[in-house]
Amino acid sequence: MPLKDENQLKELQEQLRAKDLEVKRLNRELHSMQVIFDRYKQVSKSSEGMKAVIALNKSKQESYLSMLIGNSPDIIMIFDSYGRFAYSTTAFLKTARIENFGLINGRTWQEIFAKFADEKLMSRIESAFAETADKKETVSLEENIDIGGNGDFRSYKIQLTSVFNETGGLMGSLAIFHDLTELLAAKKTAEEANQAKSDFLATMSHEIRTPMNAVIGLTEIIKKTALSPEQKVHMYNIGNSSKLLLGIINDILDFSKIEAGKLDIVPDYFDFKKFLHNIQSVFQVMFTQKKLKFVCSFDENLPKVVFGDEKRINQVLSNLLNNALKYTNEGTITFSARKEEDIFCFDIADTGIGIKKEDLPRLFTAFEQVDKRKNKKVVGTGLGLAITKRLCELMGGSVSVKSDYGVGSLFRVRIRIEPGKEEDLEENLSEARSFSAASAKVLLVDDVDINIIVAEAMLKEYKIVPDTALNGSQAVEMASKKKYDLIFMDHMMPEMDGVEATQKIRSLGGHNSGVPIIALTANAVSGAKEMFLKNGFNGFLSKPIDIQSLSSCLVKWLPQNLIK
Ligand code: ADP
Repeated sequence: MPLKDENQLKELQEQLRAKDLEVKRLNRELHSMQVIFDRYKQVSKSSEGMKAVIALNKSKQESYLSMLIGNSPDIIMIFDSYGRFAYSTTAFLKTARIENFGLINGRTWQEIFAKFADEKLMSRIESAFAETADKKETVSLEENIDIGGNGDFRSYKIQLTSVFNETGGLMGSLAIFHDLTELLAAKKTAEEANQAKSDFLATMSHEIRTPMNAVIGLTEIIKKTALSPEQKVHMYNIGNSSKLLLGIINDILDFSKIEAGKLDIVPDYFDFKKFLHNIQSVFQVMFTQKKLKFVCSFDENLPKVVFGDEKRINQVLSNLLNNALKYTNEGTITFSARKEEDIFCFDIADTGIGIKKEDLPRLFTAFEQVDKRKNKKVVGTGLGLAITKRLCELMGGSVSVKSDYGVGSLFRVRIRIEPGKEEDLEENLSEARSFSAASAKVLLVDDVDINIIVAEAMLKEYKIVPDTALNGSQAVEMASKKKYDLIFMDHMMPEMDGVEATQKIRSLGGHNSGVPIIALTANAVSGAKEMFLKNGFNGFLSKPIDIQSLSSCLVKWLPQNLIK
């Protein structure tokens, strides 16, 4: 029995240990539940805090909103679905000089707006409200209104918007009045400044070109006189340098004009085939001098006559051909022209130094010269391609480039030029030819002495000795006393300009009533030709006067029996 008891005792001890373990496990579970419970208590406490934060933000939101309403410079008005005033920014009260919201609360927009809008404006706003409700989009008006009724008319952009709920029902509408007065005034000032800049440019262009033309013109004249070999070289160098300088001045002026939005495309009919061949012969000489091969291919189907700006098309193609000349040391330059539907396409390809891939994106940017180290000796301003690009765009087209560094480049110009018919050509400019018109009575009017000297020297080529006048009124007086065969009249002159002088000569009647009068202008802008013809001129010559145009002009306008 004791053994048995001993066994029983062991069994009981075993059971007791198991129970003990069970109690410990339960205790551990209880403890971990306690931890979860404590955490839960903490979390629920902090969620109370969260609610407080939200409540705090709401009141802040309201104060922010009231800050907005009180300080917004825009008038923002809210009307309910019946068009009754519900709310607005304080700007409205201030501008309309209304003491408090109580005075307009619940009033219809018609009642409120009638204080400052006349019948016509009311009906415009009425239809705008109807339109926004109908189309469910914002409708804008621009109006000049005196909201305060104190004579302070201001320009407003008024935006009306209908607001709908989720089921599509009209909740109300919003009227925003944005005051544009200062902005429009600033815009006007900027436009005036731009205008002043353009006027300055036009004057500059005239002022700089006049002496330059004199230098170039007189150099040409002196070159034809008897000179020692040394003097000949000097005159040749003066001629070249002044042409180079004029080119740079023209680039800067053109670029400034483009910047000011003042560069005009002045289209007219011209002989396109002759134009291409002229370019070909001018560049043939230059490429040959540099021992480069020049290959031209002009498509058969190109029209003989086109309507475009000959001077600007020439500028674009000459820029690119000049670059091909500057940046190619050996090989071939190819120049081709073709027509694809109504687009004229010109390719200028060279076997020159080429352009690095990373330089291509900034090639058409003003004042950018790429690969400077390699091009150290090449003269340029970095404006040529920027001007070329803008000119192409102004002519409804583009210029693009493909290049392989060290292999060569291909520039492609695509521009819109209208084809014309042969009968559109106003006059077939004859080549500068030698003839004499010694007995022709010509009056030359220009306020700049040096221009007179240059023109006199050019007319001397045709044995013509003109009378000269230094201003409009002198010209009118001379024309009243003597019959002339042709008058060259400068456009811009102080006191009496060329237009007024021409009108006065025409109104004199008598011996000079039918005299051909040719305008001389340094600044051929768009519409200039029409303006001159309308004002009694028979034609115009651009300054610098080139000998070929002068020759054609004399042949066209002088009585034929005077030309020998
Ligand atoms: P620039 O008066 O300096 O020639 P451009 O605007 O005409 O000015 O050209 C800008 C730059 O583009 C040039 O400085 C030259 O580095 C590069 N470039 C233009 N045409 C070519 C060409 N055909 N081959 C290689 N580089 C060229």
